[in-house]
Amino acid sequence: MRATTAFSRLLRLGGVDVRDVRFEQHVVVVDVALKRRRLQCPLCEFSTRHRHNRQQVDSVWRHLDLGVWRLVIRARLRRLCCPEHGVRVEGVPFARHGSRFTRDFEQLVAWLASRTDKTTITRMVRIDWDTVGRIIARVCADQLDPDRLENLFEIGLDEVSWKRQHNYLTLVADHIRGQIVWGQEGNDSATADRFFKQIGKSRSGAIEVISLDMGPGYAKSAREHAPQAIIAIDPYHVVALANRALDEVRREYWNELRRIGDRDTARRFKDARWSLLKAPGNLTDRQAQTLRRLKRAGGEVWRAYTLKEALRAIFAPSLTLEDVIILIDRFINKATRSRLKPFVRLAQTIRRHRNGILQAIRLGINQGRTEALNNKVRLITRRAYGFHSAAAALALVMLTCGPVSVQPPHELHV
Ligand SMILES: [Zn+2]
Repeated sequence: MRATTAFSRLLRLGGVDVRDVRFEQHVVVVDVALKRRRLQCPLCEFSTRHRHNRQQVDSVWRHLDLGVWRLVIRARLRRLCCPEHGVRVEGVPFARHGSRFTRDFEQLVAWLASRTDKTTITRMVRIDWDTVGRIIARVCADQLDPDRLENLFEIGLDEVSWKRQHNYLTLVADHIRGQIVWGQEGNDSATADRFFKQIGKSRSGAIEVISLDMGPGYAKSAREHAPQAIIAIDPYHVVALANRALDEVRREYWNELRRIGDRDTARRFKDARWSLLKAPGNLTDRQAQTLRRLKRAGGEVWRAYTLKEALRAIFAPSLTLEDVIILIDRFINKATRSRLKPFVRLAQTIRRHRNGILQAIRLGINQGRTEALNNKVRLITRRAYGFHSAAAALALVMLTCGPVSVQPPHELHV
């Protein structure tokens, strides 16, 4: 068998003839020519027999590795004149427009990105993390289910930070399907407005429940675009706020200890952070011991902790709405009288959103599932921290939590 024939079978690019194969330093270069005569616009369906001219240089695309060798595809492309897009380099069947990688290579990267960490991917495929970001953004744009915005009845709007220094994405979850269906950079009411505008009036009008955090931005947008929807506050947002209040109390106390020079106790309180924030059932032995010590010491931090735990217990799945109403009001009273500033503030916030919180309980929104999706999203966005663009971070969220299923390239060829 001739080498060109062998490579033609090996690469499975489709639509090309292999003309030549060379082994250069660390890389196998495969020269190909397109089989089709017609030139295809890379941006639309337009095709023509008329060639505008030929590129002066070869185009190259990285393809799946061959053993330990990198492999690149090389071709001299033509240019065409599209009535809509003007003069363009012709599109090729084996790579996306604007990409220097073949579809198979991009598919592999997207599949890896949906399951494994940054170091594994960048070392294994030998590209940097930002390149991974650009690749997954392309794959995601191509493979997102276009019907995902149909039949939205119970949704949640939530913000997530994808990078340090206040870079946020707004994400919309479909609570019934348990997936993230929409996302965009930003976390204000204008960002939420864009979601409602994109789905349009009739689909916005069909939404029955919108669950939110307790910030003002999304609520304003939700009331404006979907006034019929019941607004519910996710209990896990309430618990998250209580955790933040507790952390504030702990930090203040810690700073005070440092000020008065009690180094030993100060260090213990710094280390105590997770013992305080985690649910008691999830503590390690050591953390549980720290917690017992805090209890013995008593004081503000311990009081803050018991308040936080009391609030968390209110949302245990076994309680009825009547129980929750009594317990929430009791919590508001207790926190208001606690003399712990962060908890006094928390009590005010909860009082303001009491109705929304009770709606969530009344509707029995599946908290476990909602929270699980939320935790997954947060885990993924931490992985996205190295990206430089919001589009890449969003693509990673969509690939892992959205209506996209990526398969490794060989499965697509079956
Ligand atoms: Zn075109």
